[in-house]
Amino acid sequence: METIKEGDWILIRFKDKRYLKRVEADKNFSYKGGILYFKDIIGKPYGIRVGDLLIFKPTLEEIILYGIKRETQIIYPKDTFYIAKKLNLEEGKIFLEFGTGSGAATMVFSSCLGKSGKIYTFESQERIFKVAKRNLEKFGYTHNVVMFNKPFDPKEVEDISFDAAFVDVREPYPYVEQVWKVLKPSAPVGFLLPTANQVQELLKHLSPYFGDIEILEILTRYYKVNPERFRPEDTMVGHTAYLLFAKKISM
Ligand code: SAM
Repeated sequence: METIKEGDWILIRFKDKRYLKRVEADKNFSYKGGILYFKDIIGKPYGIRVGDLLIFKPTLEEIILYGIKRETQIIYPKDTFYIAKKLNLEEGKIFLEFGTGSGAATMVFSSCLGKSGKIYTFESQERIFKVAKRNLEKFGYTHNVVMFNKPFDPKEVEDISFDAAFVDVREPYPYVEQVWKVLKPSAPVGFLLPTANQVQELLKHLSPYFGDIEILEILTRYYKVNPERFRPEDTMVGHTAYLLFAKKISM
């Protein structure tokens, strides 16, 4: 059975709050109900109750939501989990991404590609690039990631035929043909666009390079965990972004 070790990340649940913490024997977690000394849980299994607290092994979703440093708007797991499967990401696939931003999406993509896959990701701003690099290192998502600190430059990857690509930059329009060139025939591409006018503009640039276009957004509605008063939460996130998917047409 896997037990909690020094240096592990743990997810602490206290009432309706969640905290992601690193276990260090000489540190503790202090909360309104008391103090959890990490030395007391080293060697114990995950999924335990300690007083008012529940201690779990964090999922990738929790690492992204509660663990990474955000230097940019990140793509939420509700979107990236869908994007990853929509783009058919799996062990061994070779994948292109820009911009890396804080690396939240990169972590999800990396987790799908396994040891034999690879993701090539570009971030134009040095300050943001450094944050993404640190986030990926901190949570162990560097083994299949090649990072570039520059605007997407097809020359850096011209010898590669990509299985899929994902673009999350404010102005993706000038890159449509360049992305098309580095993709395998029929390969899928995804774009994330926060506003409707960006979607409209991108649609004008996709032809004749891409077809089978789909545009959607993902709404999630959370529910109160109460068997007597089971009903939706009072508030919800109304909009994160539009997702546009298409496939390469060979010419
Ligand atoms: N997907 C990221 C995440 O989940 O953390 C967030 C990406 S953020 C919204 C957009 C990023 O694209 C910014 O960090 C910006 O600096 C970068 N960017 C803008 N134009 C770019 C380009 N041409 N090439 C590479 N990165 C670019």
